[in-house]
Amino acid sequence: MSELLIRQFPCLSDNYGFLVHDPDSGETATIDTPDADTILAEAKAAGWMITQIWNTHHHFDHAGGNDAIKAATGAKLVGPAYDTHRIPGIDTAVKDGDTVSLGDHMASVMFTPGHTLGHVCYHFAGDKVAFVGDTLFALGCGRLFEGSPAQMWQSLSRLAALPDETRIYCAHEYTAANARFALSIDPDNAELQAYATMVEAERARGEPTVPTTIGAELGANPFLRAADPAIRQRLGLADADNVDVFAEIRRRKDAF
Ligand code: ZN
Ligand code: FE
Repeated sequence: MSELLIRQFPCLSDNYGFLVHDPDSGETATIDTPDADTILAEAKAAGWMITQIWNTHHHFDHAGGNDAIKAATGAKLVGPAYDTHRIPGIDTAVKDGDTVSLGDHMASVMFTPGHTLGHVCYHFAGDKVAFVGDTLFALGCGRLFEGSPAQMWQSLSRLAALPDETRIYCAHEYTAANARFALSIDPDNAELQAYATMVEAERARGEPTVPTTIGAELGANPFLRAADPAIRQRLGLADADNVDVFAEIRRRKDAF
């Protein structure tokens, strides 16, 4: 079995588009559809035919190009069962634990509500790759537009439990701003300091900070570190539940 090929490119102001290609079957999936024209041009440049669309959630910068890409390619649309009422044209509605495939490469669907109530992630366990939409960001996490802190904490905890080496493809380039906030919450964390320095250098060179890895996020992302004694101490929440610590970090980020 050949390795999956992943083509990543900027879309809109700060989204990333991702094309995932299996050379053996020739299948190509676009993960979300932030910008149909850009995605179709990237597929053409790669010489790939888009056969599937995998949506993480219903927001316009993720599903807004569905119709145009379906019309141009005849691709089949995979999307969260929860969102069938607000993502038109889903051909395969998926729930937690379902498997979707790109040729012989299998991805499991992880239901990760919080940013929205229908959000799903796609985890290729065999390839050690996950597409996490707006749930987990490099040094950050998605805003809680629809879900509760408890839901988001549960979703992030499931992603955090994936193998450390799992490459995490986040849907936005928010990392430099996330790093500034993270340092305000966890200023003495040497791993975070090193990560933030690397991010600054990458952005100065115009390079993406995505993908990241679970291992890198566990050491530095405050939204995964609600159990950390230093963070709890700083927030004055030494004895609180992880959910309450997470909720406080998220509140501070919303006001940062
Ligand atoms: Zn979103
Ligand atoms: Fe988004």
